[in-house]
Amino acid sequence: MPQTNFVDYEKFFDCVHCGLCLSFCPTYVELGTEMDSPRGRIATMRSLHEGKFPLDAEVVRHLDLCLGCRACETACPSGVHYGELIESARSFIEEQYRRPLLDRLKRWTIDKVFPNPLGVRVFASMLKLGSALGLSRLARSDKLPQQLRSWFSMVPERGSVSSATLLEHYPAIGEKRYTVAVLSGCVMPALFGATNEATVKVLRHNGCEVVVPKAQGCCGALLLHNGNKPDGLARARQTIDVFNGLNVDALIINAAGCGAMMKEYGELFKDDPVYREKAQRVAAKVKDVTEFLGGIPLIPPSREVKKSVTYHDACHLAHGQNVRSQPRALLRAIPGLQIMELQESDWCCGSAGTYNLTEPAMARRLLDKKMANIEATEAELVVMGNPGCLMQIRAGLQQRGLSIKAVHTVDLLAEAYEG
Ligand code: SF4
Ligand code: SF4
Repeated sequence: MPQTNFVDYEKFFDCVHCGLCLSFCPTYVELGTEMDSPRGRIATMRSLHEGKFPLDAEVVRHLDLCLGCRACETACPSGVHYGELIESARSFIEEQYRRPLLDRLKRWTIDKVFPNPLGVRVFASMLKLGSALGLSRLARSDKLPQQLRSWFSMVPERGSVSSATLLEHYPAIGEKRYTVAVLSGCVMPALFGATNEATVKVLRHNGCEVVVPKAQGCCGALLLHNGNKPDGLARARQTIDVFNGLNVDALIINAAGCGAMMKEYGELFKDDPVYREKAQRVAAKVKDVTEFLGGIPLIPPSREVKKSVTYHDACHLAHGQNVRSQPRALLRAIPGLQIMELQESDWCCGSAGTYNLTEPAMARRLLDKKMANIEATEAELVVMGNPGCLMQIRAGLQQRGLSIKAVHTVDLLAEAYEG
């Protein structure tokens, strides 16, 4: 069997097989099988790399079931770069393995729709139509099979999808302290336009002049997570070209999955003589919006928000970027807010990019767990920093008929600044 070469071989040897990551891996905890644990998957990828395992349906199944949540990286004392290993393996699978027809069709659709502004707009229009027709109510109908109810649960309740295109420039409110650029993203303008606007408002209230380059598009994260390396790299190069020349203090991201990927642009292009330096420069400026606000002297919001909230750690924020304390500190800065602790707050909700579309059964199991923990807090709002988690958790809340609302951290902050 030929040896393959999809990642630096030495990286497999960081794993010393201690197993300390096992109890932090959602799929291992759910299934209890070594092949669905981080240690087992690393051994599988190494065997693939060495040509000792064939790339067959069973191997692909175990690697597909990985959420890419990177909880194992947080737990690993040996510094294993698991995210890099699994993403390289995924691109190897997509290049070398022929999936069944339906599976190919589903992945092709995801690859074509989500990074494409027109595709996302069409998707958003369909969701809005479904929402206007009240289809979200069907998610709670006992008469429908579970699979159908779970599809209808993805249709948002009226008013929870907002589209907005940001302007190219916003002046600071009050004395100017920083100049920042904002990634408006591919999904955010069509589905979470109000959150993009809230991001700009909160930055401006903190003395930021905000620039939003028109030429930007998808950062490549969704494609790279799905193993579509050629298209993902092309999108990443375009993003680097847009932001590289800007004289800004930071490049602000409000979607955790995009931020985690853009911070890795330097590593991604380390062998590319044309993009290596540009990629490192852009990556060094990337900051999640809560990370940036948590790192500057905050101009505190003055309006009371009399609500009880709990905070869910998005995997790509907590495990991918180690941003945990800053969003909580920002919530504590909001007058009147009551904060309740969420059990297993950094446990994946099952969204994981497009995992809830490609692996709905496991995604549902993890969502059930997350819902039980959220409900136990008795909070009115659940707050988070990633659009994928927002969609998944809103669907879970809707399907259970819970009155708890899911919002982005900046939505709540903007309310505390502007009402
Ligand atoms: S990935 Fe890290 S924690 Fe898990 S078995 Fe390997 S060395 Fe141990
Ligand atoms: S990324 Fe998440 S699901 Fe995958 S092996 Fe690590 S902990 Fe488990």
